[in-house]
Amino acid sequence: MMDRKTKIVATLGPASNSYEQIRRLVEAGVNVCRLNFSHGKHENLVNVIENIRKINDDLGVHTAILGDLQGPKIRVGEMEQDTVLEDGQEFILTNTECIGNSERAYISYQEIAKDVKPGENILMDDGKLQMEVVSTNYSDQVVLKVIHGGVLSSKKGVNLPNTKISQPCLTEKDLVDLDFCLEHNLDWIGLSFVRSARDIIELKHIISSKNKASRVVAKIEKPEAVAELSDIIKVTDAVMVARGDLGVEIPMQDVPILQKEIVHKCQINAKPVIIATQMMESMIENIAPTRAEVTDVANAVMDGADAVMLSGETSVGAHPVEVIEAMCKIINKVEKDYGQLYEQERVPEKNQERFITDSICFNACRLSSRVDAKAIVTMTHSGYTGFKISSQRPRAKIFVFSGNKRLLTTMSLVWGVKTFYYDKMVSTDHTIADIKYLLKKQNFVKEGDLIINTASMPIEEKGNTNMLKLSYIE
Ligand code: PGA
Ligand code: MN
Repeated sequence: MMDRKTKIVATLGPASNSYEQIRRLVEAGVNVCRLNFSHGKHENLVNVIENIRKINDDLGVHTAILGDLQGPKIRVGEMEQDTVLEDGQEFILTNTECIGNSERAYISYQEIAKDVKPGENILMDDGKLQMEVVSTNYSDQVVLKVIHGGVLSSKKGVNLPNTKISQPCLTEKDLVDLDFCLEHNLDWIGLSFVRSARDIIELKHIISSKNKASRVVAKIEKPEAVAELSDIIKVTDAVMVARGDLGVEIPMQDVPILQKEIVHKCQINAKPVIIATQMMESMIENIAPTRAEVTDVANAVMDGADAVMLSGETSVGAHPVEVIEAMCKIINKVEKDYGQLYEQERVPEKNQERFITDSICFNACRLSSRVDAKAIVTMTHSGYTGFKISSQRPRAKIFVFSGNKRLLTTMSLVWGVKTFYYDKMVSTDHTIADIKYLLKKQNFVKEGDLIINTASMPIEEKGNTNMLKLSYIE
């Protein structure tokens, strides 16, 4: 069914919540369903999660679920209809609730008056409105000067790129949503507006203290996160280039190069990376994407992303299935004809903690290209070898066999990886023969194909991967 290597993340919403709607998306090619906790009530999400898991059972697939926590997202409150701010006027933001008008508005950021400094920028509605802090009373209100005005309607997002925001990264709402995500064993948990590696460490600490296996996606959308990128990538399990807010928080023209840098760093560290936001935006309404959108998706694949993401296109859009179909066509073309995508060899460093395993993974990839192997097959409980082999972008298929059920869905986010459940552990020889038989029986390989197996010997010790086998399918 699927030879595509770059994965597709689709945000679910009113246009894609029912069993039938989600099933059509999965059949069209969605690998990861994203639940956006900025919208949606828990009781509706329970249903959605059940639907996804039933689809996995019915279709024999391993669609992952990503719960995306809102983080310290800041918004204005309710606004009077048709409120317009004029260039040059003064405007007040206050932390006491009120219906906003062209003179003042409520902002959902209690400490704003203490945190801002005169001269800092404040942006609203995806950067469409731009203001500057004139003064603050250090308790409940801030006076702004409008640089670029416009219509300001209820609940629009506010970005403060220069302000050192004192709010914690995990808000009270996030903690409640996180409990829900963990209770339902979601595969991935995204954290918005990450500012430092410590935000990720804190989230991972909560997850492990509740004995849960969910993994973490750090959303890069703040200048502080860009400054701490290397540390964040080291501690997180995956990264999202969250271009929507990122392009407001830093100059928009900085985003394309940064996207390439983030993808590159993630590949080096074997951390999956998602490119997000406005990829097929016009298809929220239209039946076909713009040429610029086609090129954007293609470029993300060429940059080496593990996954491309859809937001409104699939959650509220008019053509969710057609978006996925169009995206698949673009990805397939690039993967077929853009050779630079593959064979990102990275020689493992000596004396590293997992030097033996890393060396096996490196040589499995190198060997696969030398002999034109059809597949590299790994057995893993943690997923480590799967992540590592994927990060070197072999042309061969990557088949991950695991007795760890959670890993089967989790790894659906990872470039090129297809997972299989397997829990027999007789001997290495027997297991490899058995797996080859299973793959042939299910038509993933055929007689005469060369395949590479990595394994740990002796198998019953469940130690680190330490061997490589090259053989024909008989
Ligand atoms: P959001 O994150 O859709 O939750 O805002 C993605 C982005 O900012 O690009
Ligand atoms: Mn965002």
